[in-house]
Amino acid sequence: MENCLFCKIIKGEIPCDKVYEDEEILAFHDINPAAPIHILVIPKKHITSLAHIEKEDENIIGKIYGVINKIAEEQGFKQDGYRVIVNCGKNGGQEVMHLHFHILAGKRLGEKIV
Ligand code: 5GP
Ligand code: ZN
Repeated sequence: MENCLFCKIIKGEIPCDKVYEDEEILAFHDINPAAPIHILVIPKKHITSLAHIEKEDENIIGKIYGVINKIAEEQGFKQDGYRVIVNCGKNGGQEVMHLHFHILAGKRLGEKIV
């Protein structure tokens, strides 16, 4: 998808601090971390938001959660815990319109909404 920031990161046109990559998924550190550890996990396929997931995308969502746990294990924060957030659309506060999962870790997180 042209003019999509995360598609440009996937293509290597914009650099990122990579944490994990396979054929379908990329994970990298957020440029403006909201916690000591703040990693974004994205599908390489351009999916605009959680609201744009098609039936054929449901497998990749499951895989992303598997990758999140793998990252938690490898980066050493699995035991202490972490939070996964997906902002969706205007009211959800989504700014980059390419589906992404925020992993926040490294401290006891405040501002619990649910
Ligand atoms: P959203 O608000 O859409 O859920 O989250 C977008 C996230 O992308 C924000 O946390 C923001 O800091 C991050 N971000 C925006 N531009 C870049 C970038 O160029 N590189 C990286 N690594 N993260 C970015
Ligand atoms: Zn994209």
